[in-house]
Amino acid sequence: MNIGINRAHFPVSVLGPGQRIGIWLQGCSLRCKGCVSRDTWQSDPGRLMTVAQLLAWCRDITAGRLDGVTLSGGEPFDQAPALAALLAGLRQWRGSAGLDFDLLCYSGYPLATLQQRHAHLLQQLDALIPEPYVAAKPLTHLWRGSANQPLLALSGRGRKKYAGYLDAPADQAAKRMQTMLDGQRVWYVGIPGRGDLAALDAACRAKGLRFDQASWLS
Ligand code: SF4
Repeated sequence: MNIGINRAHFPVSVLGPGQRIGIWLQGCSLRCKGCVSRDTWQSDPGRLMTVAQLLAWCRDITAGRLDGVTLSGGEPFDQAPALAALLAGLRQWRGSAGLDFDLLCYSGYPLATLQQRHAHLLQQLDALIPEPYVAAKPLTHLWRGSANQPLLALSGRGRKKYAGYLDAPADQAAKRMQTMLDGQRVWYVGIPGRGDLAALDAACRAKGLRFDQASWLS
């Protein structure tokens, strides 16, 4: 089974509790206005890998020391069969290795749509952040881009682990972004505040630096 991947990284500490694997799936049909991840929209055969390869990378990069896996995108549910295979593999690894990491997934689809079309996949997750990003709504809660997006605990593990975070506010002082270098590119992980990326662009320009390409620009 192939899966389209934009990128994967470990450790990610700004999209869920603890030190996590972050996996960004490639391809999103939803096209939310103001999306900062436009580089994930287009499906790309050049970004396919096998689920088995991705699972092997997860095992190798963490050596079994991880708190969770965050699946984002792109739109994970646009690759439902591959997502099912990935979740099955992660759960099999968790069980067979005696690990306790949680599985958190973002989706831009409304909760009702996911419940109608993908109930079997929701049963494999511990936590879910559904609903489209709405730029006109403020950033109010931890790990969420706009105020319409809930954090839902879907399993016993999820209820135990996320109980203290369901209504947690987005703390302006807390770390919300990670910065990484990826070859010749700078890569930002996390949920930027409104205006943060424009401020970053302005600060760079003031120092004579200019972004040739940026995932948040059309
Ligand atoms: S915010 Fe998420 S669901 Fe919306 S267009 Fe961007 S990648 Fe797709």
